[in-house]
Amino acid sequence: MTTQDSHVDVVVVGAGIAGLYAVHRFRARGMRVRGFESASGLGGTWFHNRYPGARCDVESIDYSYSFDEDLQQEWTWSERFATQEEILRYLEHVADRHDLRSAYEFSTRVTAAVYDEDTRQWTVETDTGASVTARFCVLATGVLSATNMPDIPGRDTFAGELHHTGEWPHQPVDFGGKRVGIIGTGSSGIQSIPIIAESADHVFVFQRSPNYSIPARNRPLTPEFVAEVKATYPERRRLSRLSGGGSPYTPHPKGALEVDAAERIRVFDEWWDRGGVLFAKAFPDQTSDPAANAVAREYVEAEIRKLVRDPEIAEQLIPTDHPIGTKRIVTDSGYFETYNRANVTLVNLRRTPITEITASGVCTSEQIYDLDMLVFATGFDAMTGALSRIDIRGRDGRELRAEWSAGPRTYLGLAVAGFPNMFILSGPGSPSVLANMVLTAEQHVDWIAECLDFMDERNACTIEPTSEAVSDWVAECNAKAAATLFPTADSWYLGANIPGKPRVFMPYIGGFGAYSAICDDVAAAGYQGFELDAAEVPSGGGHHRR
Ligand code: FAD
Ligand code: NAP
Repeated sequence: MTTQDSHVDVVVVGAGIAGLYAVHRFRARGMRVRGFESASGLGGTWFHNRYPGARCDVESIDYSYSFDEDLQQEWTWSERFATQEEILRYLEHVADRHDLRSAYEFSTRVTAAVYDEDTRQWTVETDTGASVTARFCVLATGVLSATNMPDIPGRDTFAGELHHTGEWPHQPVDFGGKRVGIIGTGSSGIQSIPIIAESADHVFVFQRSPNYSIPARNRPLTPEFVAEVKATYPERRRLSRLSGGGSPYTPHPKGALEVDAAERIRVFDEWWDRGGVLFAKAFPDQTSDPAANAVAREYVEAEIRKLVRDPEIAEQLIPTDHPIGTKRIVTDSGYFETYNRANVTLVNLRRTPITEITASGVCTSEQIYDLDMLVFATGFDAMTGALSRIDIRGRDGRELRAEWSAGPRTYLGLAVAGFPNMFILSGPGSPSVLANMVLTAEQHVDWIAECLDFMDERNACTIEPTSEAVSDWVAECNAKAAATLFPTADSWYLGANIPGKPRVFMPYIGGFGAYSAICDDVAAAGYQGFELDAAEVPSGGGHHRR
């Protein structure tokens, strides 16, 4: 097969962690695969987010593929939380090892995917004019890949350097001697601010909402530790797959208020010392019971006060608008201490909002900040953004954007009623961003591959979920979210960061292990909730096996 074949069995859109594994798995089934990637290289998130300080916040030994036992034995991560550069090198190594690049056309954006009911094929169109038909269309377009550039008045008039963390240049960016403004204090801002402050003349942090952040406790991995992990990898992976978040950690068996104060502090100390986003797991009721959440907040807030010398600045860095854990807890290295530096200024946008950006800098209601560089760490149109930028049409010309105008509607996060033979990887309605996304992507792809085996065995031509199954799954996702404190925060999980986006909690919050069990049950029950069309494959319909 060449990448130029105009008809294939499956098109995979996106060459991130999910798309790469999909190509590998589908090829192993003997399918002809063609992949498209808008970037000039592979890696997805780890190709695009090259900002200083970019690292994973799930430990690298867990945030890595499990499908190739030899690979996980041979590859050695150098640090607990690998840098963007190391993760990208790893993904390039995996792609070379399994010859995945040859499936892809890079620098090629998919603009449309249209289902033809007569031929039962998808026609996928791109911005280079390439067009391909395929029996299956798999969207691995990423949940944090469509950047959000807020429409601040005058934004495009800024005359200095302007960068978004999610589209960072490939050449080194020199902060030396420069006055740098950073808008945004989510994970990307909080990871980059300490490093930028090391070499910039001055850093102005434009903070609208403070975030909870826990020191990463990042460290080089010792040979002894690596050997121990490698000796027990299969068990570590098994526990991760059963867990809520895709890592082999389980919360304390009791609720935060079911233990006495001394035990509570001991547990919080333990998870604080463990570091990073894992703190959300200290007690099982932390993100569902307001009282349990309050004690977790108190603990972290006291730590922030210890780290920041100026008590007035410390107060401004402490979130007051959301329960801890209902926005992703940031995993930082030296973030709060950065405010002890003389060359870092916190600009509190709640007190003095940005009024406009000019050629020379940022104006707030109080002051003009002259800047040489402006960094937008303003996040993403998450979960649905990349999908809504493609014109996707199913049966009867049904438009995915219109179908989802009140919020995404999927069955198991995998498939959409009216869009036969289309699968979404790690999308809305799946655990996705609430778990280790390497393992969730593997689970999704494996499930789809087994579903395709099932279809082949029955000579089925198409599969799609019923609208009832979708409605039930959406209701289940909403009910699970409503039982937690998550809907109370203005987070990107709910689309709250994008003006006009419907407020719907998009990921499935019942836990990765529970979700996988549901998917397995659906499969064991003959793909319950799906309709399979067992009619003859039309000529040219592409039920080819190599
Ligand atoms: P992506 O890596 O986003 O890949 C999607 C690809 O599709 C992109 O390359 C994009 O260019 C391409 N694409 C999109 N639309 C089109 C189109 N129309 N045509 C062609 N190509 C298209 N998750 C964790 O579990 N742990 C972490 O530690 C972690 N750290 C993160 C750090 C950062 C800075 C960010 C932004 C996210 C992080 N995430 C983390 C989430 C991360 O996105 C996932 O872990 C994972 O990398 C997603 O892989 P993916 O293949 O699903 O999507
Ligand atoms: P984010 O969490 O959405 O943060 C965006 C920041 O920009 C927020 O502080 C937001 O303020 C601010 N902002 C947005 N629009 C603004 C405006 N018009 N004016 C002023 N401020 C504005 O985005 P992110 O930091 O890129 O992170 C997104 C997700 O990617 C993370 O939650 C995480 O899942 C993943 N990620 C992970 C890591 C990691 O550690 N591995 C690193 C980076 C990203 P408000 O809160 O007030 O809206």
